[in-house]
Amino acid sequence: MLIVQKYGGTSVGDINRIKNVARRVARFFDEGHQLVVVVSAMAGQTDRLIGLAREITDNPEPRELDALLATGEQTSAALLAMALRSMGYPATSLAGFQARIFTDNAFGRARIDEIDCGRLKEELATGNIVIVAGFQGIDGSGNITTLGRGGSDTTAVALAAALTADMCEIYTDVEGVFTADPRICPKARKIKKISYDEMMELASLGAKVLQIRSVEFAKKYNVPVHVRSSFTDKEGTMVVEEDVEMEKVVVTAIAHDKNQARITIKGVMDRPGIAAQIFEPIGQAGIVVDMIIQNTSEEGITDMTFTVPKADFKQALEIAREAANRIGAERVLGDEHISKVSIVGVGMRSHSGVAAQMFRALANAGINILMISTSEIKVSCVIDERDTEKAVRILHDAFRLG
Ligand code: ADP
Ligand code: ASP
Ligand code: MG
Repeated sequence: MLIVQKYGGTSVGDINRIKNVARRVARFFDEGHQLVVVVSAMAGQTDRLIGLAREITDNPEPRELDALLATGEQTSAALLAMALRSMGYPATSLAGFQARIFTDNAFGRARIDEIDCGRLKEELATGNIVIVAGFQGIDGSGNITTLGRGGSDTTAVALAAALTADMCEIYTDVEGVFTADPRICPKARKIKKISYDEMMELASLGAKVLQIRSVEFAKKYNVPVHVRSSFTDKEGTMVVEEDVEMEKVVVTAIAHDKNQARITIKGVMDRPGIAAQIFEPIGQAGIVVDMIIQNTSEEGITDMTFTVPKADFKQALEIAREAANRIGAERVLGDEHISKVSIVGVGMRSHSGVAAQMFRALANAGINILMISTSEIKVSCVIDERDTEKAVRILHDAFRLG
C-alpha cells in the first residue's frame, strides 16, 4: 500500500518524539508499505519564528515571513530523515519546493494549485521513505509560500490525492475527532466516523484538529482520512463520505472559536449601496467577514454588525470607521471579547426545533446570545468570550453527546 502519514507539532515536539515517530514509520515500512511522511514544525516553533520576526518589525514582508516560517517544517523533516537513517532505513527529506508543490502567490495563506509527483515517485521507486516538509510550497516565480496555520494537514491530504494513495493518516495529540474539544470538555467522546461536510463545518467553526482546506481536498478527491494519535495504536476517526447512519444523529459535535471579534456600525442610512460601501474595502483588504446582521430600520436608519478574525480586528475597525465617515453613519463600536459556539450535524437537515433547543440550553445557563447564524447543518451563536467553556459543556450535555 502507498500510505501518506502526517505528524503534527506535538508529535515531533522534541528529539525523543521524533525518534518515536521514526519507529512508527519504520514499522509500516517493515510491513512492506510505501510511505510519504509529512511533518509539521516542532511544537511552538512556528510561533517562535513569528515572534522573532515581530522583534524586528510589526509588518514583516509577507514573502520573507513565509521564507522564515517554512524553515520550521524543513527542520523537522531533516531531523526525521536523520532519525530513520540512523536506524538503518532509507529516508530522504524534501522541502515543499523540492516536492514540487505549486501554489498561488498569496503569502501566508497560499492555495495549492498543482503537485508534480515526478520526484516523489522517483524517490518511492528507489525504495526511499519520503519525508516532506508540510505547510509550504512554491509559487510561479519560485518564491517559498506557506499555506496558513495548520497547513501541514492540507499538504498531507493534497499529496495523498495527487499520488492516489491508499490511505491518509493524520497523527496528532488527541485520539481522533471528538464530540467537542477534549481539552475543554472532559465528557467529549471520540467519533468513529464523520462525514466530510460535518468535518468541514467543524474545522471552519474553530475545531483545529484538521485545517479546513485539507477537508475540502479530501472531499473533492474522495480521500479517506484517518485522524489518530501518534502516542497510541488505537483506531481514531475516519473522515469519509456521508452515509445513512450519520443522518440519524441530529447533532454530531460542538465547536467553539475564540478567534473572532465583532464590529457594529450604528446609525447607518438604510438605502441601496450602503452594505457594499462598508464591505467592499474590507474585502479588498483580504479580511474574511463571517457573520453579518443588519437590523430592521427605523425611520430609514439601521445598525450593521459583523464579525472578523481577531487578527484582522484592528485593521477592520479602521476600515469600518473610514466607511462610516464616508456614508455618514453615527459611530463604530468594536468588541474583541466574544466567541462563537456552534452545533454541527447532518441530521439537522431533517429535524426541526434544534436551534430552539440550543437557545433554551444557553438561556437556562444564563448565557446571553449576541448573534446567531445558521446553515443546513449548523447553528452558531456569538456569546461573551468568558462563557465559552461553560457553553460548550452545557451544549454537550443538552444534546447528550457524552
Ligand atoms: P497538530 O499539531 O497535530 O496538527 P493541532 O493542535 O493542530 O494538532 O490539533 C489538535 C488539537 O485540536 C487537539 O489538541 C484539540 O485540543 C483540538 N481540537 C479542537 N476541537 C477538537 C475536536 N472536536 N476533536 C479533537 N480535537 C479537537
Ligand atoms: N507549523 C504550522 C502551524 O503551526 C503548520 C502546521 O503545524 O500544520 O500552523
Ligand atoms: Mg494542526
